[in-house]
Amino acid sequence: MKRVGIPQGLFYYYYYPLWKVFFTFLGAEVVKSSPTSKKTVDIGVNLAVDEACFPIKVYYGHVSDLLKKDVDYIFVPRFISIETRSYICPKFMGLPDMIKAGIKELPEIIDMTVDLSRTDKGFKQEILKTGSFFTNNKKKIKEAYNYALEEYKRFGELVRQGYTRQEAIKVWEGEEVFLSEKADLNIGVLGHGYSLYDDFISMSIVKRLRDMGAKVHLPEHIKGEDIEKEAASLPKRVFWTLGRKMVGSAFYMDKNSDIDGIIYVACFGCGPDSLIGEVIERKVKKPFMLLTVDEHTGEGGIVTRLEAFCDMLIRRRKLSESNISCYG
Ligand code: SF4
Repeated sequence: MKRVGIPQGLFYYYYYPLWKVFFTFLGAEVVKSSPTSKKTVDIGVNLAVDEACFPIKVYYGHVSDLLKKDVDYIFVPRFISIETRSYICPKFMGLPDMIKAGIKELPEIIDMTVDLSRTDKGFKQEILKTGSFFTNNKKKIKEAYNYALEEYKRFGELVRQGYTRQEAIKVWEGEEVFLSEKADLNIGVLGHGYSLYDDFISMSIVKRLRDMGAKVHLPEHIKGEDIEKEAASLPKRVFWTLGRKMVGSAFYMDKNSDIDGIIYVACFGCGPDSLIGEVIERKVKKPFMLLTVDEHTGEGGIVTRLEAFCDMLIRRRKLSESNISCYG
């Protein structure tokens, strides 16, 4: 049985169930890299080009981890666009080439191109090309993809139920994940899924906020049409899919009277974050905190800032309850 390695980074958090079911249906064994650790980061930082953003560096670490797992292939998709008239950050476009150039003695890379910016014609060909690594039976490849799509929808439903993407993957794989109902605060948390839901990159921000007594609201918990409607209030359309989702989610959360404050987790070295974070910070009226993470971020600093933010929200609420302006 052929073994396909899937790095636990970048779009893993969005599409892992789809890929896993697709490859498994075609008779392959799917092997994922180990969860991100300090070692993953150190290796990734050494292998990647200096200009790469933090999540891309971490991705190098995950590909390197798969080299020890005796895999026949490593799946490194080339994402260009996942919807019409919108694009994914250009760093994804060159990812398979960067990986091949930066890491020696790789097994064969499966570098399926995902470009749905105009039509899905080319994408269908890419599915067949990817499936042909395992079978020449086109009907079986199409069947595998349709079956994978069904599972992907099931995963999407889990994400909308209040889990993070990481938790939804665990639930989808049969693990139990407990979500506490009790919460004193409601905090909106934004960020690229691959930084927010990677516990090492984000320093488990979502979990820490929950432990501090907050209910965390995520972009995945907002309806797509509401996000698009809010994002459309900007004079110019944001053509990065994930960036537009964050702008729309931030504006939606800003209008939602239940939400006490908003936190944006940005990655060091990210061009889109530097623009989107700034737009959100200028527009939202609710308490807002921008946290930038990179390989040097210390846990202590993050915890202190989260605690201070939560304390400020509680104090603010008490002040507004007693009808005294919180602005002094
Ligand atoms: S959007 Fe930012 S964090 Fe994501 S890959 Fe591009 S530069 Fe890196």
